[in-house]
Amino acid sequence: MRTGGDEVALTFDDGPDPVQTPRMLDLLKQQGVKATFCLVGQNAAAHPELVQRIAAEGHTLCNHSWNHSLTLGRQKPAAIRADLEKTNDAIRAAVPDAEIKYMRAPGGNFTPALVEAAAEQGMTSIYWQLDPRDWDHSTDASDGAHEARVVKTVKKHVGKGAIILSHDYGQPDTIAAYKTLIPWLKSRYDLIALP
Ligand SMILES: [Zn+2]
Repeated sequence: MRTGGDEVALTFDDGPDPVQTPRMLDLLKQQGVKATFCLVGQNAAAHPELVQRIAAEGHTLCNHSWNHSLTLGRQKPAAIRADLEKTNDAIRAAVPDAEIKYMRAPGGNFTPALVEAAAEQGMTSIYWQLDPRDWDHSTDASDGAHEARVVKTVKKHVGKGAIILSHDYGQPDTIAAYKTLIPWLKSRYDLIALP
């Protein structure tokens, strides 16, 4: 849930997204910030050039399962292992020497079996401390209101050492929110890719 130090870590899940991920990468590059990308295997397989760009630009890679099954952790150990392996294979098909040190369960639905399978493959399981629910548009009247809520939630709840969860898949408002948030966060915290 935390970085282990005072640094704050931005994590972006569910990509790569052919439209939104390049926009997020452009923003991070422009702001000089490194982050962690939790990749869905089938999206990595579909967009290897984006996996390459994420790695080349110094961001950290995280396994977020093959197809974002929210019940992955309840499957048989062999099925869990195969899912994580297939995802890492897709990432390494794009970046052969990729270091994949982290795993995040879809929906944060960790089970002991999932954590153990990840550890067997050299991956530390990561959760988050702060979830601004950038995926949850239901209560908002407009994109602007959604973006403002995400910005407000992060500003209100972030603290030293927080791992922040957001999404680079299908969430253009998230990028708009981080255009505001990154300069604000940078002036208060060191933003790091998970080591
Ligand atoms: Zn996810």
